[in-house]
Amino acid sequence: MLTCKGLVAQSSDLLDGSLSFRQRLAARTHLAICFHCRRFIRQMRISQRVIRTLPEAPLPDLEHLLRAISEQRAAQSDDHNER
Ligand SMILES: [Zn+2]
Repeated sequence: MLTCKGLVAQSSDLLDGSLSFRQRLAARTHLAICFHCRRFIRQMRISQRVIRTLPEAPLPDLEHLLRAISEQRAAQSDDHNER
């Protein structure tokens, strides 16, 4: 019987469809009886889908973005101090 730990260890392969028939059957059986692993796999699937929608290239000018965020934070804390 596959344990939760075993299922988590195989979860990427399960989602990629690269498990053997036997492993897939064991995973499906476990998922049928284990609510927690069903939820885990569902969330993994959602994360995979979200990750696929992200651009492949790194975000342009990340340095600039981080600087803008920290400047905005600094400005916000200045506002806060004045009140
Ligand atoms: Zn489980």
